[in-house]
Amino acid sequence: MKVQFVNLPQSPISCRNLIGGEWMSGSGSEIKVHSPYTGHQIGVTTDSNAQDVTRAVRAAQSAFPAWKQTPIKERCRLLFEFRQQVMNNIEELSHLVAAESGKTVAEGKAGILKGLEVTEFALSLQNMDSGGIMNVSRGVSCEVRHEPIGVVVGIVPFNFPAMVPMWMFPIALACGNCFVLKPSEKVPLTMTRMAELIQKAGFPAGVFSIVQGRQQTVEALIDAPEVKAVAFVGSSPVALSLYKRATALGKRALCLGGAKNPIILAPDADPAVAIDGILKSFTGCAGQRCMAASVLLAVGNVENVINGVIEQAKKLVLGSDMGAIIDRAAMTRIENALNAAEKAGAKIVLDGRKAAKPAGCEGGFWIGPTIIDHANADMACAKDEIFGPVITVIRVKTLPDAMRVDAVNSYGNATSVFTTSGAVADYVTTNTTAGMIGVNIGVPVPREPFSFGGTKDSKYGHGDITGESAVEFWTDRRKVTRKWELQRDSNWMS
Ligand code: NAD
Repeated sequence: MKVQFVNLPQSPISCRNLIGGEWMSGSGSEIKVHSPYTGHQIGVTTDSNAQDVTRAVRAAQSAFPAWKQTPIKERCRLLFEFRQQVMNNIEELSHLVAAESGKTVAEGKAGILKGLEVTEFALSLQNMDSGGIMNVSRGVSCEVRHEPIGVVVGIVPFNFPAMVPMWMFPIALACGNCFVLKPSEKVPLTMTRMAELIQKAGFPAGVFSIVQGRQQTVEALIDAPEVKAVAFVGSSPVALSLYKRATALGKRALCLGGAKNPIILAPDADPAVAIDGILKSFTGCAGQRCMAASVLLAVGNVENVINGVIEQAKKLVLGSDMGAIIDRAAMTRIENALNAAEKAGAKIVLDGRKAAKPAGCEGGFWIGPTIIDHANADMACAKDEIFGPVITVIRVKTLPDAMRVDAVNSYGNATSVFTTSGAVADYVTTNTTAGMIGVNIGVPVPREPFSFGGTKDSKYGHGDITGESAVEFWTDRRKVTRKWELQRDSNWMS
């Protein structure tokens, strides 16, 4: 099957488990993987069961003592080799990401490069003195060490097949843990290929493992006694239930969820900057990213910007400018949300349901940019995550009105403001409850070393998934207090 824009695998790629350095099939039922571009099958994997999981976590547990004792500089040397392998194969990997997730190839590459940025942060840990030592009393010193916790798992969503796993495993591995990844069953191809590159880089068997599957696989991983920490990225209901499951077992968990990110458009915004920022934010990755803007809080008279966004969005061509929707179920979810918005009284001023599919992609899943206008803050289209190229415009009179809508948002991933006024920017950055805040930026993803993570229903658990906060998540602090001499003074350190 040949289509424009992306190289699709010519026959289904088999995505197996990587356990103890060996590739092996899972024991559960078969899962077919389809490309959102055409609907054709491009891969096959398995819904691994509890036995597969036990095998994987035991192999990881066996690898842990030697990996923990490997000096961080040696661990990072392997990570550096992995980075090189990814760079050497970045074109192939970008096409794989696009083929299975529906992104454009350029978006696929951008996600991999962002993942490499986190890898570079992980590499920098070898040059950081993350501990510390001081004399805390006469003849008494205290030292802190960050030590790995053991076997840890990452459970990841479909929408960034490479980047989200790379938020997790490079830092976890650099810190000395053994990492087990459960890719999304919708997009197992990229990480299967990347795991081959991890092997090629020379990581010892069992240090990095893959277990393919769905809910039963995830639950077995969380429940496995060998697993000490669980990182999850996906939708909020699943994030919350897995957070509860892991913490009820006394495990450390950080579970990132969904989003409903507003952009606050002030009347003094630079029109060109605002139009470009809003357009790219809600149409990039076909709106299937947790940092996409999905609500536009239009303050006062901003008609020129809204019209500009509509005009620019009309020009986007599916396939070349914007990718596809992950699957038929997601298409139905988005279409239902649009029907409900119309029924509630909002107006669809740009309707992506009518957009033309790219040639050769008639069997694929496509929705063009969609703008819902004249919505109010109580409508489902203003509150619920739609996860598609859809933005809901709510008109408000004042900035405090906009902030009131922001405050009742149950999610808290991102809020952005477009303005030319420092005072307006300060007001929004001070008063929003979101975790990641943008000024004249529609997708305010912090670059490393600043960490990634939201608030409210966008994140369950403490800390962020990248940056220094991730080092805390993937390690235990061990404190060593030393005394070599007899001391005459009696205090609690005697
Ligand atoms: P999802 O929650 O359906 O799936 C995520 C992972 O959980 C997958 O690996 C899946 O196999 C597994 N899973 C699904 N249901 C499960 C269940 N009941 N029990 C155990 N495991 C289960 O999410 P998705 O559709 O793959 O991804 C889209 C969602 O992810 C959106 O809500 C998006 O906002 C969110 N997301 C959030 C971030 C962030 O940083 N906050 C980043 C990317 C995506």
